[in-house]
Amino acid sequence: MSIASAPHRYRLVLTGPPGSGKSTQAERLAAYYGLAHLSTGQILREEVARHSTLGQQAQNFMSDGHLVPSALVNDIVAAALQRLRARGFVLDGYPRTVDQARALDGMLAEEGLSLDLAIHIELPEAVAYARLASRVVCLGCKTGYQRAELPAGTTRCPKCGGALVHRADDTPEVIHERFVVYNEMMTPVLDFYRVQSRLRTVDGDGSLDMVAERVLAALPQT
Ligand code: AMP
Repeated sequence: MSIASAPHRYRLVLTGPPGSGKSTQAERLAAYYGLAHLSTGQILREEVARHSTLGQQAQNFMSDGHLVPSALVNDIVAAALQRLRARGFVLDGYPRTVDQARALDGMLAEEGLSLDLAIHIELPEAVAYARLASRVVCLGCKTGYQRAELPAGTTRCPKCGGALVHRADDTPEVIHERFVVYNEMMTPVLDFYRVQSRLRTVDGDGSLDMVAERVLAALPQT
């Protein structure tokens, strides 16, 4: 993909189950249109690493695998949207509840704006399982790879030389559990957008490039 010549200031939510490549697609989409990529999980991890007040408040929820209270996350998103509203954005990891989806609408309405679309990358659990089970991650730069895309016997990251490891939460039981949790959590959020005709579903089965093309095709034409 090349950078589009005329940037569109899309305001988008991108979501998908574990293994759907959602964050990679959010990054690509943001780069393609010059949008801000806003990942609440990433922002929270950075706050934890900085030992900020927010990070200290969020840390225990995150390490237990629970959602951080919406009041904290909504504040993060509101502050970021104030900075980024002129640029357009792709939200990744937010909203995770219907209350957050409503809060997002409220934040945008205050600026006289609205969300263009929520895009859901759909993936059968069996496909996600096959992907995640063969995934290795670099301990150094955190890049993820599929075993099949690396030469046989590769143990070091092609980018930085760091050790490649299988993630502890990429086991069959944990993958299934993450899928169940994702569906329980996101079904009401997807329904919220669906009944308002603000949801597009994209088939996530295929290469990164194929899915990226489908995501682009799902966008409203401006
Ligand atoms: P992620 O990288 O999106 O999986 O997020 C990592 C962790 O950050 C989650 O397990 C939650 O604890 C927290 N988090 C991220 N986004 C949200 C959100 N929208 N609402 C509540 N907690 C969140």
